[in-house]
Amino acid sequence: MSSIKQEVEEPLPWHLGVFDAHCHPTDTVASLGDIAHMKTKTLTIMATRQQDQGLVAKFADVFGLIDAQDRGGRVVPAFGHRTPKKILTAQLNLAGDLQRAASVHGVAAHGLLYETLAQTWRGHEQVIVSKRERRRRPDFEAYEDTNPSNVTQRDMSKPWPPRLCLHSYSGSADTIRHYLHPSVPVVVFFSFSNLVNFASQSKKAVDAIKAVPDDRILAESDFHCAGKRMDHLMEDIVRSICRIRCWSLSHGVEQLASNWRRFVFGFE
Ligand SMILES: [Zn+2]
Repeated sequence: MSSIKQEVEEPLPWHLGVFDAHCHPTDTVASLGDIAHMKTKTLTIMATRQQDQGLVAKFADVFGLIDAQDRGGRVVPAFGHRTPKKILTAQLNLAGDLQRAASVHGVAAHGLLYETLAQTWRGHEQVIVSKRERRRRPDFEAYEDTNPSNVTQRDMSKPWPPRLCLHSYSGSADTIRHYLHPSVPVVVFFSFSNLVNFASQSKKAVDAIKAVPDDRILAESDFHCAGKRMDHLMEDIVRSICRIRCWSLSHGVEQLASNWRRFVFGFE
């Protein structure tokens, strides 16, 4: 069956769990009640206006996901605000101190953003050891212990967050390789939305989606109102990612769900 035919005929397997990696439902307070009826399982919610951060916290107190095993929670709060460089660095330091994942707007100024992020881990880059050298080195264990996937399990404060999501990522496929360099001590995820990524630069978005490894890609609506339209936007971006990656819908939904859990909790 061709992927196009499959896309037309096969309904999205919502029951496997679709997770919105970034959206702004607190922009439309009247829509918050609709979250309970949405097909999207969990929303990662962020305030657009600085004054709405309290609302995000309040809403998360009632409907927030408590931990990875929580089946009832519908939202995960994300705090922060659009900032020029100094405040962003302070926020990244705080996320590192608390060992929480951070979500960063990846829409523009990609060079400056990378530089700001890289400043937080400068001097702490991972040591790259070749396979041959690792076999020979008696301190191989020590090298393994500095692997970012192990570091995220520890209760350790760092000036950088253990996991990072560049949401609505609109940079080039080339910039992705900088973030994925083995020396970078952060697990970086790349999130895509139909609203931002397929509005005007679809070729660039397609190239970027192809360049991200399977386990680092996320889907988001980036929408300001909970409800059916947000579900539609999630369905659209999940289908787009699956088509571009040549994934079946069930494989794609499961992969994206597992990626979201690792981004939020550090494990599945
Ligand atoms: Zn947004």
